[in-house]
Amino acid sequence: MFGAVIHAPGDVRYEERPDPTIVEPTDAIVRTVAACVCGSDLWRYRGIAPVAKPTPIGHELCGVVETVGDAVTTVKPGDFVVGGFNPSDNVCPVCRKGATANCLHGAHYDGAQAERIRVPWADGTLLAIPGTPDADLIPSILALSDVMCTGWHAAVSAQVGPGKSVAVVGDGAVGLCAVLASVQLGAHTVIAMSRHDDRQRVAREFGATHIVADRDEAGAEAVHALTDGIGADCVLECVGTESARLQAVACVRPGGDIGLVGVPHGDLPVNDLFWHNVGIKGGPAHVRTYLPHLLDLVLSRTINPGLVFDLELPLSEVAEAYAAMDERRAIKSLLRP
Ligand SMILES: [Zn+2]
Repeated sequence: MFGAVIHAPGDVRYEERPDPTIVEPTDAIVRTVAACVCGSDLWRYRGIAPVAKPTPIGHELCGVVETVGDAVTTVKPGDFVVGGFNPSDNVCPVCRKGATANCLHGAHYDGAQAERIRVPWADGTLLAIPGTPDADLIPSILALSDVMCTGWHAAVSAQVGPGKSVAVVGDGAVGLCAVLASVQLGAHTVIAMSRHDDRQRVAREFGATHIVADRDEAGAEAVHALTDGIGADCVLECVGTESARLQAVACVRPGGDIGLVGVPHGDLPVNDLFWHNVGIKGGPAHVRTYLPHLLDLVLSRTINPGLVFDLELPLSEVAEAYAAMDERRAIKSLLRP
């Protein structure tokens, strides 16, 4: 089969790889219907995170089950499935608390930007969709494998709820999904911080009530102006850079909450946050926990997170999919074998 392999910063190749096989009885092999490039894949593409050796890449997928191991009971060959970026068994004591991202037996994919993929812990990771989904729903189903669940996690972590004011830092696919999540969770004011017309449009479509194009001090002042001069109840940090984290701190009100889902690069002024009674929570999303509810919302056409995909390419053009996102010509690239 063929799949994407990152060789060095800026160098992602579509090349022949061994067909995946069942290794553990809890595995499934899934034939990819759609995959995509994640903002977090760009850390390596941009040379910010190291690439020690050529490595298969990608962790978002939906597809059709081809084979399952002897111990798999909830999915079977022919099922259309979506799986989260962080495989979990969904039965260990940590998973049973809902913290599936921190599964005691957590595993990784060996590159999901590929024609086929081995899914560890198939029962705990994959969710089968009844029948065959309508073709136009596939981007939204795929978005559940990471960005929508990650945006949801930001909102849940920051205690977004009815009547609250929310500011979202970051207008990538996760930030936009965090806007959508906040609206779904009943937030009254949802401020998307974005400087790009195309992303502002998606944010508005997802229900953002305000757009703030300023950054740094001016951005924080604009958020304060929209929140009785005190800052937002909930700030969702969806980038991970130090400047984004400091932006979040500058936008939250005393006693408010920050949800962090950007892969952290840089520090947080924890002592300042202490004196302002600001809550901090976040991390990798508990995808498997959120998946059933969010899949219902997608299948009932209540939410359409697939709007974050504004570029679709054949999997063989994966190199261009990375370049387009790196150069901000695309919010997020969808790939089909
Ligand atoms: Zn577990």
